[in-house]
Amino acid sequence: MISIDNAFSILEDTVSPLKEMEVSLLEARNHVLAETLYSSINMPPFRQSNMDGFAICIHDLLLYTIVGEVKAGDIYSEELQPGQAVKIFTGAAVPDSAQAVIQIEKVTITNTQLLLQENIKLETNIRQIGAQISKADVALTINTFLNAAAIGFLAGLGFTSVKVYKKPTVGIVVTGNELVSAGDFLPNGKIYESNAIMLQTALYNGNFEVVSLYKIKDDFESTKTILRKAILENDVVLVSGGISVGDYDFVESALKSIEVETLFYKVNQKPGKPLFVGKQKDKIIFALPGNPAANLTCFYIYVLPTLQRRSGIESSYVSKQSKTITHDFIVDNSRCQFLKALVVADQVTLLSHQDSSMLDTFALSNALVYLPNGNYKLIKGDKVVVYTI
Ligand code: AMP
Ligand code: MG
Repeated sequence: MISIDNAFSILEDTVSPLKEMEVSLLEARNHVLAETLYSSINMPPFRQSNMDGFAICIHDLLLYTIVGEVKAGDIYSEELQPGQAVKIFTGAAVPDSAQAVIQIEKVTITNTQLLLQENIKLETNIRQIGAQISKADVALTINTFLNAAAIGFLAGLGFTSVKVYKKPTVGIVVTGNELVSAGDFLPNGKIYESNAIMLQTALYNGNFEVVSLYKIKDDFESTKTILRKAILENDVVLVSGGISVGDYDFVESALKSIEVETLFYKVNQKPGKPLFVGKQKDKIIFALPGNPAANLTCFYIYVLPTLQRRSGIESSYVSKQSKTITHDFIVDNSRCQFLKALVVADQVTLLSHQDSSMLDTFALSNALVYLPNGNYKLIKGDKVVVYTI
């Protein structure tokens, strides 16, 4: 059994980003950029009106003559003389011969005459060429996460494809003779299988959508066969259950027999002591305990940061967040603990039903509180380390 610090540092040393790939901008969403991108255009590319109003060629008087209009997308090709104005719309190109745009709400119009209330400063309401970004400047640097705004920004600069780090595909292998699918008859002695859909949901929430499911009975030969297949077909494999010390827990022996190298097995933590992590070439295999709350806790603490690191996100296993506990709590445990908790603002409350088989309060929690092992008392107002989930 190893400490969580050792487990974290083994993973930190092992997990690196997958290779890069060129994809369309749409496919690049929610990926991490694997190259620094430079803009090939000025943005905006021309002097752009920031308002619906009038572009004016300034003279000493407040009265102007309207000589035409310029819609978004059009160019006004004639040269304005001092005292002349053209009607203009947001986003339209301001004629080179105009020095300002006056917004429509601030003028009085009589036929073709335009009366300003006061003099207007040069370049008012004009977005300057390259105000957002100049041609050849850095648009986004390598390792930037491509969220919706980033994708929109790049599209606005004319990018159609970019290089990103590949995101891992994930296989979920569920073990257990006692499991039946929700919707089926529940015979005595059986329970509904719930870890697959739970992990799938947690993966989806983390932007990992390419997921394959495999189900196996507690049987050595089929465990071996399916694990081999799942490792072949995915970048990361999550096995659920069958990793404890029971006579019908075949996952560890099956992984060994198909030559998965053990990175660590059993961690001094609660829940999730039987956690196994191994690798085979560049594939990473997690065997998570079957108890649902232990399963999901190990997902958040170990699996999610691993998937993020594999996708190029600089994610850490060690939480730096701390919150104030709202109540006293006695710790008396040789294992460190991850406890279901609710964070509100900068305060955190531990919830009931901490048992690793129970999800009811996990469903209401938004954090796991990390408590080091030992024998000590937390006092209301103390700071504790928190993993927000
Ligand atoms: P195991 O890790 O296989 O020893 O399972 C530990 C506990 O978790 C047992 O009570 C199992 O019935 C339960 N369990 C295992 N896998 C699942 C699953 N996929 N869905 C719900 N409960 C499970
Ligand atoms: Mg089992």
